[in-house]
Amino acid sequence: MFKPEYVAQHDTMLEREYFYKKDRELIDKIKEKEALKLLDQERSSHQNKCSMCGHEMEQKSMEGASFLYCSECKSLHMAVQDLDNLSLRHKLRNVVSDLLIHQNSKVKKSA
Ligand SMILES: [Zn+2]
Repeated sequence: MFKPEYVAQHDTMLEREYFYKKDRELIDKIKEKEALKLLDQERSSHQNKCSMCGHEMEQKSMEGASFLYCSECKSLHMAVQDLDNLSLRHKLRNVVSDLLIHQNSKVKKSA
């Protein structure tokens, strides 16, 4: 089937535009993947490193709460939930010891 020259040129332009958009989409996807990969690499390079001095941190645990400890600058990193649990245990312990002290003082007064 015969196409006039201007129609053929228009079809070619549409075809180029279509492939340009497809290529652009592929390039954007590749760039996005590379950016995520670089971000992942950067994150993993900081894993278990001290945010204050960059020294390797050691995994430690105390009373069921785990944390990272830097032997270089004595910093520690702990999840808020672990800190809350630890703090709650200490508060409960203080409440119990306060109650015991209060109870003992009552016993001494009555004796
Ligand atoms: Zn440190």
